[in-house]
Amino acid sequence: MGQTWKSDSEDIFERFASGIDEAISTGQVLKCADRDVQYSIRLQNERMRKHGLRVRYNLTPRGNLSEGFKLGRIWSDEHYENKLESRTCLKDEEYYEGERRVFRKKENAVLHQTVTSVRDGVDVSEDIYCCPDCGAPTRISQLTGGCPSCGNKFRMSELYPKISNYYFYPDVGSTRKEMGRIALPSILISVGVTYLFLLLIGVAGLIGSTLTSHGNTYQSMQAMGNFIGIAIGGIFIAGFYGAFTGWIITVIIYLVRFGKFAAQRIPMAKYLGSQKSFEEFMKKSTPEFSYEFFAGKAVNYIKMILLSDNPQNLPFYYGQQTDPSFENIVDVESMGAVGVTKVETSGNYAVVYADVYLENTYHSNGKVVRINEVFETVMRKNLSRPVSMNFHITSIHCPTCGGSFDATRSMTCPYCSNSFRMEDLDWSVDYLVRKAVR
Ligand SMILES: [Zn+2]
Ligand SMILES: [Zn+2]
Repeated sequence: MGQTWKSDSEDIFERFASGIDEAISTGQVLKCADRDVQYSIRLQNERMRKHGLRVRYNLTPRGNLSEGFKLGRIWSDEHYENKLESRTCLKDEEYYEGERRVFRKKENAVLHQTVTSVRDGVDVSEDIYCCPDCGAPTRISQLTGGCPSCGNKFRMSELYPKISNYYFYPDVGSTRKEMGRIALPSILISVGVTYLFLLLIGVAGLIGSTLTSHGNTYQSMQAMGNFIGIAIGGIFIAGFYGAFTGWIITVIIYLVRFGKFAAQRIPMAKYLGSQKSFEEFMKKSTPEFSYEFFAGKAVNYIKMILLSDNPQNLPFYYGQQTDPSFENIVDVESMGAVGVTKVETSGNYAVVYADVYLENTYHSNGKVVRINEVFETVMRKNLSRPVSMNFHITSIHCPTCGGSFDATRSMTCPYCSNSFRMEDLDWSVDYLVRKAVR
């Protein structure tokens, strides 16, 4: 608790966390992120610049899991493994238009990062990697010897691990300390107020009997005795009654907080059954399939579509022209649900219909607002192709000639000039509309 995550930390999670806002605001390249994340950050940077905005995150470790989840989930293929690392923090977020602060929100959040690394003992020297300096997709053995395009050499430790996805979720969990910070003042105030109330009654009685005693010493002494009795007995009454009320107030505060969170999420519960059957369906053809990994990818793709000025140039998007209001979106956050509503097969392809719950940040007319929205999407994937944990839209393998190239620049292979469909390599997004504002 207290200090922020450091940019010079040994820990890649911390390095990434401390550099994202700078990367989004200035377009500075975040070295610990893989090429796809850098690309997504660049789209957001371009959108922010267009709106004349800058964002600052002040991320302070806090909460029950600020050291990270011990049960990190791992998905792997033959060469690589992806590990989901999650840590609770306080996210103090500020937006600036020039020097003017136009938005600030402090909230408890969970930062999730997918860390991709090479599996122990696996030789990946023949695998393709985008040169960290010039971006050319190159064999790893060439990068460690000197990139053929720019000549720079890299150590293996500079290439892996890499952050290949990230997102924030809200965190409703409270530590005992945080509960104490609400409970203690509630109890003290309740005890104090109760005691003051009792004293007031005592004082009123004292004044009353002084006014009616007409100098009768015996009567005024008795009144004083009553007052002292109230003053001392009141301590015990206020102690018990006040402490009890204080706890009730604390519980009410927590119920209201949790109720708000639950009310937003109850509609998402209806997808839990279909999520399970979707996972089982996908596992029949791809045993490595994981719903969480899919959901992370879906949110990331949708984020890129919403933040791109020309979504139709994105290699994975085959939908129609997007709604013009999307151009006011400057940040996209998941609310934790990608609700699968229907899965069907069409030939070799899985077609997935889903409702995606997002918290989007809009900027227009000098105002920044945050809106909870539901988007409807359709995604598609060729089931006969294996899942790769090292799939990148910025360095894909041409299915025809095997050459590697950056699909964000061209959808036609520069070596054999064959074009391809994204759903034959990984997921494509065929449809995306805003379904509801909540
Ligand atoms: Zn290079
Ligand atoms: Zn080719």
